[in-house]
Amino acid sequence: MERKKILLIEDEVKLARFVELELRYEGYDVAVCHDGRDGLKQATEENFDMLLLDLMLPGLNGIEICRRVRKFSGIPIIMLTAKDEVMDKVAGLDSGADDYLTKPFAIEELLARMRVAFKHATAGNPNKMILEVQGLQIDTDKRLVTVDDQVVDLTKKEYELLLYLVQNKNIVLSREQILNEVWGYSYIGETNVVDVYIRYLRSKIDEAFDRKYIHTIRGVGYYVKDE
Ligand code: CA
Repeated sequence: MERKKILLIEDEVKLARFVELELRYEGYDVAVCHDGRDGLKQATEENFDMLLLDLMLPGLNGIEICRRVRKFSGIPIIMLTAKDEVMDKVAGLDSGADDYLTKPFAIEELLARMRVAFKHATAGNPNKMILEVQGLQIDTDKRLVTVDDQVVDLTKKEYELLLYLVQNKNIVLSREQILNEVWGYSYIGETNVVDVYIRYLRSKIDEAFDRKYIHTIRGVGYYVKDE
């Protein structure tokens, strides 16, 4: 069986190291981030089987990370909260976490919760999301895009851009909104990058299939139309 890949986002370095070693010992692959923003970036760029997420983090807090990961993935997420943050557990679960664990916890407790979360995930995955707009489907679990059941080969950024447009279908999104959401606040570069990628997408999903999914409102922005 393939090793399961876990992403641990935790800024307490000692605790992170301890959990990492224990999980490796149990046969998991583990990646560790100590900063919220780096963690979200890694969760976006790589495929993991589970997220272990601290609540209070530098950069971006756990609830926000959870909320954003849920936009494109149904993977199991377990929140790790300090004792005095227990009040936040409701917010954590509201944001889409599957479970939470209060620190300090016994490692056996974490392992048990992980097994339960994996079991739920494989039993029909209630968080699995397929978005659809008139023949265009996005399977966010597999990060797979199809038009009339034909697979469309997209780069990572093209996929993220399309996902953002489809999640907000029929809403006109400005270049700035798209830039912030898809490229991130820290993006420094050509501002016409959005137009360039819209062009790539159009050639792959509009022109290739003789459709018109992506619409332009001149001087305002772009949207995906669903009738
Ligand atoms: Ca923390």
